[in-house]
Amino acid sequence: MKKLTKQIVIDYHDFMVEKFGVRLIFRKDDIPPDVFDVFPSLNQFCADTFLDHYAITIPNPFGKTLIYLPWIAGSSTRVSLYDQVRRLAHECEHAVQIRHDGDTHFAASYLGNPALRANYEALAMHAELDIYFWYYGKPAAALFLSSMAKNLKAYRCGADDIAVTEKHLVAYNKIVARGSVSSEAGKAAIKWLDMRV
Ligand SMILES: [Zn+2]
Repeated sequence: MKKLTKQIVIDYHDFMVEKFGVRLIFRKDDIPPDVFDVFPSLNQFCADTFLDHYAITIPNPFGKTLIYLPWIAGSSTRVSLYDQVRRLAHECEHAVQIRHDGDTHFAASYLGNPALRANYEALAMHAELDIYFWYYGKPAAALFLSSMAKNLKAYRCGADDIAVTEKHLVAYNKIVARGSVSSEAGKAAIKWLDMRV
């Protein structure tokens, strides 16, 4: 297992923000109203307690892609340092998806369609599995993959989407087990972390 420090995790957030051209936000109120105007279905993820527990990457046609985090970088009172590293890589992979697909296409697909949302999530989870292997030196176990897929229930995905996602993760994890890092965010993160951890 790798040894992360508070300062490394703070610096890692700075690096990922710069590398993926995103802006971090920590309060729902920091999401510009214009973004809600163009993507009203974003509201479904800002209701209840979703934002207390989950990070979310928000397409922003008016500026940098936004990443909302329910933790303060380097402060491990709510989320462990390792989980911060893993989960920020996941969100940065969403930023890559937004760059490839465009704000409006991503928003329509991700916010509007549970099956497409599950697919975006499964691809972002690649980065998490890459980080997992880097951190633990072994691929994630089947039970962990299953629990990752089941998390999508909180994202309003159905049982079918969750089952497909689990199969997807099992397949990707076989590639990870061979020591290959394929996600863009995972690659950047691991390259940076390897020089410091
Ligand atoms: Zn995600």
